[in-house]
Amino acid sequence: MGGRDRLRDHRGKRDFERTREPEGGGTAPGREPRFVVQIHDASTTHFDFRLQVGGVLKSWSVPKGPSAEPKDKRLAVPTEDHPLEYEEFEGVIPHGEYGGGTVLVWDHGTCEPLGHDRRGRPVDFAESLRRGHATFRLNGSKLRGPYALTRFRGGEEAWLLVRTAEGRSGGRGAPGPRRARSARTGRTLAQVVAAAGDGT
Ligand code: MN
Repeated sequence: MGGRDRLRDHRGKRDFERTREPEGGGTAPGREPRFVVQIHDASTTHFDFRLQVGGVLKSWSVPKGPSAEPKDKRLAVPTEDHPLEYEEFEGVIPHGEYGGGTVLVWDHGTCEPLGHDRRGRPVDFAESLRRGHATFRLNGSKLRGPYALTRFRGGEEAWLLVRTAEGRSGGRGAPGPRRARSARTGRTLAQVVAAAGDGT
């Protein structure tokens, strides 16, 4: 199944005449899988956690954002797949549109799958996610280290995002959204809004 079909939900929810969000289908996948954590200040303010799997960004809404502390279990609720170009999206989605509000790229980088089977062979990352448990190392500018996503409820699906080990370079967990700065541009949410008002 190609990236375009898997993005049908993403496209169906959005009017690309009205929002500057990427429609998808442009970029070829890079060598190393990517991740991005976006702060999304919409009807609720939450973090969107996205991991590259094949040609799309698998996505979860994480109300409190990822933590750098192994004791913190963070609820992660699946949302629709996003195009790879969405990693770069920072800006304002018009009021009244799907997800209307402000998006800031809080962190991004590479995501290295870690899972092995009993014989020590790497397991397929997409397959691990389908089975409901995947481990990976995040190499971002803030998030660094091993993490796991584990499904704990089917039906109205819910997952937990947890850092799996202490480490010297533990990285930084999610801050208060108002103080957070973009890993791409150094801007705060308020500065992204102000720039959109200027038409920049
Ligand atoms: Mn969101």
